[in-house]
Amino acid sequence: MTDSIRISFEFFPPKTPEGREKLYKTREALQEFQPEFFSVTYGAGGTTRDTTANIVTGLRRDGISIAPHLSFGGDNEEIILDLLNQYREAGVDRIVALRGDMPSGMGAVAQLVYANELVAFIRRHTGDHFHLEVAAYPEIHPEAESYDDDIRFLKGKFEAGANSALTQYFYNPDAYFYFIDQCEKAGIDAPIYPGIMPITNFANLARFSRNCGAEIPRWLRYRMESYRDPEDIKKLGLEVVTDLCETLLEGGAPGLHFYTMNQVEPSAEVLCNLQFNQT
Ligand code: FAD
Repeated sequence: MTDSIRISFEFFPPKTPEGREKLYKTREALQEFQPEFFSVTYGAGGTTRDTTANIVTGLRRDGISIAPHLSFGGDNEEIILDLLNQYREAGVDRIVALRGDMPSGMGAVAQLVYANELVAFIRRHTGDHFHLEVAAYPEIHPEAESYDDDIRFLKGKFEAGANSALTQYFYNPDAYFYFIDQCEKAGIDAPIYPGIMPITNFANLARFSRNCGAEIPRWLRYRMESYRDPEDIKKLGLEVVTDLCETLLEGGAPGLHFYTMNQVEPSAEVLCNLQFNQT
């Protein structure tokens, strides 16, 4: 595996001191894969604004390259600007800019701000300070009016100033390759990094996938649902996700972005299978 493959790891902000402690250990263990950056998600509607910022500034104190996810949620421009300044002062130089979703039950409370508008807002107020990642959907965002519209809006995020994209997870590599082709045809030349979700608990994954529009191939679902032993699920999951990553990298994907769920082993095992360079 070459050094030019970019690896990144995504965390969510833990709610408890124990969770926070575990996250620091996870971060340390994953450091051996020399990731370009770690990222920390932002609760729907801005519900983790302070916890995300605390984790991000805490990890920055260890000198880590860390990218907070950010969306307007229900917040006004002043609050977002304060947060951006706080991040800049802490030495953060990358942000994952999103529209986000509203917390369940609050769908009609506020109008969500599209990610391209957040990207433009960040550029307007902070110039080129931040490297901006945005979200991309090889299997298309569940609310998109059409395939072409979704790609057009992704292009709008790059035109507003985004530098690269991280995708929603998927298990069908053809969906990614086709998407990349269509993006190129639409004039998008920025790198689009596939999001990788290791499989550990299939019931949770199936539920989550229904909400975010990620497709689990029928053959995989059937095999997974036939297993009773969680170890069998993990074993097949590791095999499937390793094959997926191999296919993606062989097909030219510029790197891999792992949804870690704050755990070391699921992502580390895949990277070890890929014989990814370790320090
Ligand atoms: P947008 O790019 O704004 O798109 C949202 C929808 O609107 C799409 O259907 C698009 O086609 C359409 N659209 C876009 N622009 C326009 C426009 N100008 N006019 C009309 N329609 C438009 N969620 C969180 O809450 N917190 C997180 O930390 C988080 N991290 C994520 C990380 C990654 C890598 C990914 C892939 C997703 C993440 N999400 C997160 C989920 C994401 O917030 C949701 O998928 C959300 O519904 C869309 O966010 P977006 O930034 O892609 O939105």
